[in-house]
Amino acid sequence: MRSAVVVGAGLGGLAVAGALAGSGWRVTLLERADRVRPEPTAVVLWPNGVRALRALGLDTALAAISTPLADGGVRRPDGHWLVQPRPAAAERTPVIVHREDLHDALIAGLGDRVELRTGVTIRTVRATPDDRPAVGDGRQMFAADLVVAADGTDSVVRRHLAPTSSVVSSGCATWAAVVPWYRAPQAAVDHPDGGEVLGAGYRFVVAPLGEHGSTRRGGVYWAATAAGAPRPEPPETQLTLLRRWYAGWPGPIGDLLDATDPGALVQHEIRELRPLPRTYAFPAGPGGVVLLGDAAHAMPPHLGQGACLAFEDAATLQSLVREISLPDALARYDRARRPRAATVVRQTRRMSAVLRTRGRLALRARDAALGAITPRLLGNAAEAAARWQPPTP
Ligand SMILES: Cc1cc2nc3c(=O)[nH]c(=O)nc-3n(C[C@H](O)[C@H](O)[C@H](O)COP(=O)(O)OP(=O)(O)OC[C@H]3O[C@@H](n4cnc5c(N)ncnc54)[C@H](O)[C@@H]3O)c2cc1C
Repeated sequence: MRSAVVVGAGLGGLAVAGALAGSGWRVTLLERADRVRPEPTAVVLWPNGVRALRALGLDTALAAISTPLADGGVRRPDGHWLVQPRPAAAERTPVIVHREDLHDALIAGLGDRVELRTGVTIRTVRATPDDRPAVGDGRQMFAADLVVAADGTDSVVRRHLAPTSSVVSSGCATWAAVVPWYRAPQAAVDHPDGGEVLGAGYRFVVAPLGEHGSTRRGGVYWAATAAGAPRPEPPETQLTLLRRWYAGWPGPIGDLLDATDPGALVQHEIRELRPLPRTYAFPAGPGGVVLLGDAAHAMPPHLGQGACLAFEDAATLQSLVREISLPDALARYDRARRPRAATVVRQTRRMSAVLRTRGRLALRARDAALGAITPRLLGNAAEAAARWQPPTP
């Protein structure tokens, strides 16, 4: 039986561990945290992410926990439309899912061939021609035919194997939360489709998670992006700042900020990899090491593609290792995944440039251009998302 060690039990690591185990591999999943626990926010899955999860056998679980997300359009803070909402065909409609529900579904998909070990922080990597690839925590080495580095943006494995790729600040921070229905009942009634508002260096996205049901957590997800650094103040003060920054913006933004429990607020500094690693696969012994998810292509979340790409990575790897020899699968994985990630990173950087626009004149130019650029940019991203298919070796 072939064996794999997966480093990191985030969305990418859980998905690939389940995928390999489902293909008959013995998998050890190593996580540095004491518990595998996601943050209490939500994630948008575009058609590519949905298709990848289906390829991983999670279609029934996903149908139970996800809600289709109508196109709510893009407005300026004064309410003027930058991009009008457009209904999309069902196969092009993204879905939204609470991260805790998605984690539960991925954990249920691990089956009994995955040994999950928490409280293990990987510090060393071995990738030499003569030995099986391995990672170590300073006390023990974990060797296997294949090591999957799914250890996120600050990946220790990537730092060892692709040291020229650095993590840099994207120049903005995000805040996100899920507000349960009962805390903002009117927001759901008045704004059933959510949508996006784009200002000078500020952005606010609202996405309803559907009714509270037996298999999913309901509520309204919101995510705010602001140019600048994350705030060191406590969550209560951060919320006060957010209320000030977004004062006068269209509903339901004020209501959602008022209804947000400070304990549910999640702040992130947005960082990205520059340049992307020159390869995603490092041959070693009979197999090698691959990079997956944010470890391979951390990018700002402006197009909501990070987790979708991690699921694409997992579905691609699963498909390749099932059909061809491990060394060939590694080479094909690199050839398939690097150009794909580079395309999405390029699209995301264009969106970053739009978001960074500040100053009255620049804003006017942006607003004029946005009517043309944003639909094209978002359209291209949606097109690429809709087109992606798992490979058939
Ligand atoms: C505000 C925000 C909104 C987003 N919205 C979307 C969206 O709508 N759609 C979308 O597709 N994506 C979105 N993303 C991106 C998405 O969240 C990430 O791309 C995705 O979660 C990355 O998953 P991962 O498993 O690769 O990494 P991570 O989730 O970072 O998981 C890495 C895991 O590895 C563990 N680990 C790290 N180092 C070690 C070590 N040395 N040893 C052992 N374990 C280790 C960590 O503890 C962690 O559990 C968003 C991101 C942000 C910040």
